[in-house]
Amino acid sequence: MKRILVVEDEPILRMALVDALRAEGFDVLEASDGKSGLHLALREDPDAVLLDLMLPVLDGFGVLRALREDRLAAPVLILSARGTELDRIRGFEYGADDYVVKPFSMAELLLRLRAALARRAGATPGVAAETDGQRARFGAVEVDFGAYSLVNEGVRHGLSRRELELLQYFLAHDGEALERERILEDVWDPAEDPTTRTIDQHVLKLRKKIERNPAEPQHIATVHGVGYRFSRVPR
Ligand code: CA
Repeated sequence: MKRILVVEDEPILRMALVDALRAEGFDVLEASDGKSGLHLALREDPDAVLLDLMLPVLDGFGVLRALREDRLAAPVLILSARGTELDRIRGFEYGADDYVVKPFSMAELLLRLRAALARRAGATPGVAAETDGQRARFGAVEVDFGAYSLVNEGVRHGLSRRELELLQYFLAHDGEALERERILEDVWDPAEDPTTRTIDQHVLKLRKKIERNPAEPQHIATVHGVGYRFSRVPR
């Protein structure tokens, strides 16, 4: 389960963010000032941080700078009413991954958050060789993680969040025989109560999008009695 830290001093907005994120299946941590936000970020190692700029005790820029000095790798999305160009430039200079101007729609924020998480996941070692963080290429397939889509032999296919996460997982474990149970543990949230059948269904969907002939898969091979083996190079 991805863990998101929300640092926002306005109680109503903070609660709305926390509720929306929990409803989307995220594990949520919250802080109402910059100093406690910074401590939580460094102690709990969240997968992403939503950071307000105007905060008591320590402002958002101060938090961001301290986080980057401590080499927190998680993406940071600034949420701010201050949408001036200067603030935005300063935010990016300090290492923000995105800048969302208030008021924003929850749907847009969630999209941007997922895109930031996907970019970060796409940049993990092992995938990096042929990935610039947002894109990966294998066989005739080019994946655009930020856009939740891929192009296979000129045909564009949309990817659900889970399909995208599963594909990222396969890319990071190129050539390994992966047990269904392990894939479930690593990719699915236990609260969803997934079964091995869940994986099979998602693999079927992915094969339709990435294989030339889904009945004779060249990328996602079935390993009988075990699970699946992904390979970038078509077999
Ligand atoms: Ca504020």
